[in-house]
Amino acid sequence: MTLFTEFLILFVMVVAAVLAVMLLTGLFFEVMNARHPERRIQKHRVNKRKWAELKQAPVSILTLSACFAFGLFAQGNGWTIAPLALSWWSGPLMLLVSVVLYDAWFYWVHRLLHWKPFYRFHALHHKSVAPTVWSNHHESFVEALLNQAYYALIVFVLPIPWQMLVVQKVYDQISGMLGHAGHEHFASPAGRTPWPLASTVFHDQHHGHFRFNYGHSFSLWDRWMGTLHPRYDATLEGFEPGGEAVVEGRPGPERS
Ligand SMILES: [Zn+2]
Ligand SMILES: [Zn+2]
Repeated sequence: MTLFTEFLILFVMVVAAVLAVMLLTGLFFEVMNARHPERRIQKHRVNKRKWAELKQAPVSILTLSACFAFGLFAQGNGWTIAPLALSWWSGPLMLLVSVVLYDAWFYWVHRLLHWKPFYRFHALHHKSVAPTVWSNHHESFVEALLNQAYYALIVFVLPIPWQMLVVQKVYDQISGMLGHAGHEHFASPAGRTPWPLASTVFHDQHHGHFRFNYGHSFSLWDRWMGTLHPRYDATLEGFEPGGEAVVEGRPGPERS
């Protein structure tokens, strides 16, 4: 079998796995959102763009799958630095390091995409002011490539066992969709100061207010760089049990 055929088989397997995780996660949030309308973040803004968003999903999924499959393939063929043997300590440690590194990568790529010369590659993603769970894949080819190139490159500098890279990709897929769910189902003090985790409110505010909350899994870079939305902690707290809701988003149409 040629190298290209081997890569193609791996690529098809990755696409199938990503699709399965995407559909299961999407279905989960569709059901949760229908059951808990009171958890909607932008209460006055209706998003009917679900099908328009899904039309772009093939571009996003094929691009991210190609980047991820290339990372696995390069490591499997010994083109990268040698990964650590998977053990009780190397697995969690490498996963943690990689999640932290990806958050930095995502933050700075995202800041770059908001810079005028690059914004045309990111404008599509911002058409949804109130995101749906499917907005996660409503992105241009260049945006998907810039974000997901991480998975193609990280194997050259971090000795992460491939199994942990798979765990990270599944986590990334689910957490990316969680960030766009439009409803805050998992509000917790762990998502606000002094804790570093982000939440659905975190990325929802990015779509609703545009110039805040550029990070992915953590709010740390935004806190350090002064780009955290000033009402982020208070809004998230409002969704916790017993919290007082802060209404996000003014009434208004979606951009389309
Ligand atoms: Zn953005
Ligand atoms: Zn988004």
